[in-house]
Parts: sequence; structure tokens; C-alpha cells
Amino acid sequence: MHMKNLLSGIAAMPLLMSATLAGAADAPAARTVLVIHGGAGVERANLTAEDEKEARAALEAALRAGHAELAAGKPALDAVSAAIVVLEDSPQFNAGRGAVFTHDGKNELDAAIMDGATRRAGAIAGVQRIKNPIALARAVMEKSPHVMLTGAGAETFAQSIGMALVDPSYFRIEKRWQQLQKALKEEQDKKAHTDIETAKHFGTVGAVALDAKGHLAAGTSTGGMTNKRWGRVGDSPIIGAGTYANASCAVSGTGWGEFYIRAVAAHDICARVEYKGQSVREAAEAVIDKEIPAAGGDGGAIALDRNGHFALPFNTEGMYRGWIGADGVPHVAIYKEEKLAEPAGG
Ligand code: ASP
Repeated sequence: MHMKNLLSGIAAMPLLMSATLAGAADAPAARTVLVIHGGAGVERANLTAEDEKEARAALEAALRAGHAELAAGKPALDAVSAAIVVLEDSPQFNAGRGAVFTHDGKNELDAAIMDGATRRAGAIAGVQRIKNPIALARAVMEKSPHVMLTGAGAETFAQSIGMALVDPSYFRIEKRWQQLQKALKEEQDKKAHTDIETAKHFGTVGAVALDAKGHLAAGTSTGGMTNKRWGRVGDSPIIGAGTYANASCAVSGTGWGEFYIRAVAAHDICARVEYKGQSVREAAEAVIDKEIPAAGGDGGAIALDRNGHFALPFNTEGMYRGWIGADGVPHVAIYKEEKLAEPAGG
């Protein structure tokens, strides 16, 4: 059954550019910001108080990790990677440890990262032994001549650059295993119309960041969708679908990947900003709240522009989400009705 297409009440939030006090000759430094999501598949009924607490703590830790990079003057790419590694390591999200299971009972992971300043990108799909898929996606971008590597080849590349492989059992979490069993049973009982409709546990993680030089980056990491088959790859590792960044806009999506691929969702949001002059809020809401639901899909996204304005629309029960500005104070929310603090002076 499709989830209702509910509009999120999350507004785009302006951040001002701040000039350095050092003198007129200095280029103005952008006020840094990092925005993250942990997936738009919040199912309140299935979330225990303990899970919720852990998820919030992981979101805050991810924001702090990314902020530390930005505060040290590091590029947006470093902030995106650092934040996503924390979320991949948390079993609360469908990425890295805690990824959902395929129909065959495996964890197959996808990830992508993109540098807005150079438009370089790296992606991996269907890996089963990479502890932090975002790190391998970044290595594909920086250490290979390619943009996307898949499956066994991606793992061979990882070994060739000295990245250790983990046993596939590392990713296994009992809750995810039970979600697969439930999906398989529903499928057998023919309660579901399609295999993948049985369980849309969107828990993909993503981050977008603006660094002090005014450069943007985006990254996304996921286990895909419960009960996926035949080497299915979702939108997350596809540049332009689930992940995209250029000089003026950065986006990471979460949701029913097939619809994000067809809509080329992440790129469409940035194209609207660039060619139509829409704000990131208008652009992201048009795609997430209108186009995707109109086509029958659901999910959310985070979008950030070069001036630090950002938006976090979603059309599900909730989206694990948060942001952190130059002051280093993390702000997180999970449920739809929960208000996310807005930047001061915005
Ligand atoms: N977009 C992901 C996919 O389709 C799922 C998610 O967002 O959790 O693979």
C-alpha cells in the first residue's frame, strides 16, 4: 500500500553569509552548514523508546563529526564523509551495519559521493563486505578513473587500495532479518501487490555540506530496500537520482528508489535552482512533495544551496534529520510534526 502523500512542514532555512573580520581583501568565508538524513522510513509504531534515543544520539554524533571537519577548515566532502561514517556504523539506519536484507538474505550496499566544486563523483553498488561504503565511494572518485564500481569488482578495487573487507555477518541486525521474514510471508500470502511494496524500510543515510570556501558536497549510503532481488540497485548510488552536487546546490535523497531514478530527483532539484531560479525549498518541495508522489512514490530529501539555505521535505510519517551550523549546536528531529529549530538570523 502506498503511504499517504503528506506534506512536511519543514521550511527552507536561510543562513547569512558572514564576511571575515580580517579585512576587505579577504574573500568572505561562507558560514558552514551540514544537513543530514537517516531515511524517510520512520515507522513510529515500530520504533521503541530505546531505538528512538539511539537514533537521535547517532544523528547528533554524525552532525558533530561533520562539523568538526568544517570547523577545522576542511572541505565539504570531508564533512559529508565523516557524518555518513557515523550513521553507517549505527545499527539504527539502513546503511552499513543494520542494512536491510535482500530477498536471498544478504546485505548489498550502495553509496555515492559528489564534490560540487569539481563535479567529481564516486559510487559503488551491491557490495557485501565493505564496512563503510561511503569511504569506498570516495576512493572510487579519488583513486580510480571511474565513477561507479559494482559488486565483486568494487571489492577487488577496495583491496587493491588497502581497504580491509569485513565478514558479511558484520551487517546483520536481528530486527532487519525479521523485517525480511515479514516481507517474505506477506509476499507468500499475496498481501502485497509487488515484492518491493511489502517493506519499504527507508533508512538510507545522507549528508550535504557547505564549507568555509563556499563549496558544496553530497553523499548517500544505503542497504537499499528490504526484499530487493536480482542485484537491484536503487537511486542512492546513481549520480543525479539519489545524490547530486554542483557549485550551487547539493542533494541527498531517501525513498522509493525506483521513483527517484525515473524522476532523476536530485539533479532535478538542482536544475530547478540553477535554471528556474527556484529556492532550494521550492525546488525540493516541487520534486519531493509533488512529482514523486504524483508518480506513485514516496520519500524525502535534503537540499542545500551555496548560500547556506536548506530544505528537508518528506512525504512520509517522518524522516530522521538534522543540521548543524557554524556554532556547532546540533539540531535533530524524527517525526513529521516535530519542529526542527531554524538557524538564528535566518
Ligand atoms: N532510496 C533507497 C533505495 O531505493 C532506499 C531508502 O531511501 O532507504 O535503495
